Amino acid sequence: MHLQASIPPHPSPDRPSLVGLGRPQLASALAAAGVPARERNMRVAQLWHWVYFHGAEDFEHMLNIGKPLRAALAERYSLARPQVVAEQVSTDGTRKWLVRMPPTGALDRGAEIECVYIPESDRGTLCVSSQVGCTLTCTFCHTGTQRLVRNLTAQEIVQQLIVARDRIGDFPGRAPPKDGLLPAAGTRAVSNVVFMGMGEPLYNFENVRDAVTVMSDGDGLSLSKRRITVSTSGVVPQIGPLGREAATMLAISLHAVTDDLRDELVPLNRKYPIRELLDACRSYPGVSNARRITFEYVMLKGVNDTPAEARALVRLLKGIPAKINLIPFNPWPGTKYECSEWTTIERFSDIVFSAGYASPVRTPRGRDILAACGQLKSETEKMRARARMMLEESLVLGAD
Ligand code: SAH
Ligand code: SF4
Repeated sequence: MHLQASIPPHPSPDRPSLVGLGRPQLASALAAAGVPARERNMRVAQLWHWVYFHGAEDFEHMLNIGKPLRAALAERYSLARPQVVAEQVSTDGTRKWLVRMPPTGALDRGAEIECVYIPESDRGTLCVSSQVGCTLTCTFCHTGTQRLVRNLTAQEIVQQLIVARDRIGDFPGRAPPKDGLLPAAGTRAVSNVVFMGMGEPLYNFENVRDAVTVMSDGDGLSLSKRRITVSTSGVVPQIGPLGREAATMLAISLHAVTDDLRDELVPLNRKYPIRELLDACRSYPGVSNARRITFEYVMLKGVNDTPAEARALVRLLKGIPAKINLIPFNPWPGTKYECSEWTTIERFSDIVFSAGYASPVRTPRGRDILAACGQLKSETEKMRARARMMLEESLVLGAD
């Protein structure tokens, strides 16, 4: 594992970044820069291609846009990315970035969030955050213990993808990382996005939806919506709107097969119990055998991991086009839970497998950099201290 510190100066707040904006916001930005209404759609299309297809970082590169307009844009706006405060690379190629958003006001130091990139042979998955912290308090999740909570803007959500593509050389003409830990040639380095970082995406619905619109736009970032998955702890009233307005894949953090236990693990269950949640899943727009819903199930020792619960899980999901994802619990300092024994997980997964659900256990990735779900930001303080220390010493640590 190695850790790199690179802290460029914050983009000047009086020149807001256009990176991450949607088409309507770009049109307004162009209007403010004096672009007449009749030209605006054409200019938006040009900017869009530069920002999202090429990953342009400088208006000067936009040669099909005249010099005076380039100058007018550069005077008012930037193409800055949020700061990458620290980057960690796992021995298995998993990368974790601590990203600081520009301050929104005098009292704001700038929200810090983490995103994680997981390369596999046939795909590269980016795990993004939708909020800083989370208002929900799932008892096994570290994010739920954080005090500070705010929604990320759609721009900030999209910027996580831009930062990742910058860092792994996933824009045309950019160099991939020297370590070569990327999916096989011919596969896009970031082919999938999952909203499984910090926060409850369906409590920040509009911003998540708008971010998905930008990420999936075929003239720019071009991610297929079938490769974007929104994970929810079960905000039932927003599940239908997600399907209708964002049309992403859906993942449900189920974790228990009875309301009694789920009330404890995922307190939102008291508001939206299992039956209502599964009803919402059955009517998720677009659900089919080709577009299954993923049910996440965290394996907690002695809590939810018996063979009887595995059988109950299979019964519960009957009739829903489903995939089951067993997640080994990732412990964090102060938690009362432990991860189930490997043999227990295997027994559980065998039952699920016999019922026709394939590849159910999520292999832990990036363990050495604590890149797991629910763990994001738990190491932030330590990481930041190390990053600062290294910056002061102006050195970059080599791999160990
Ligand atoms: N708030 C959303 C998305 C973020 S959490 C949700 O709850 O679905 C992403 C996934 O990580 C969820 O399934 C969550 O239950 C799981 N998770 C949280 N903490 C975890 C931990 N310590 N170990 C393993 N999985 C965890
Ligand atoms: Fe929030 Fe999801 Fe963690 Fe629950 S599991 S506290 S909803 S981030």
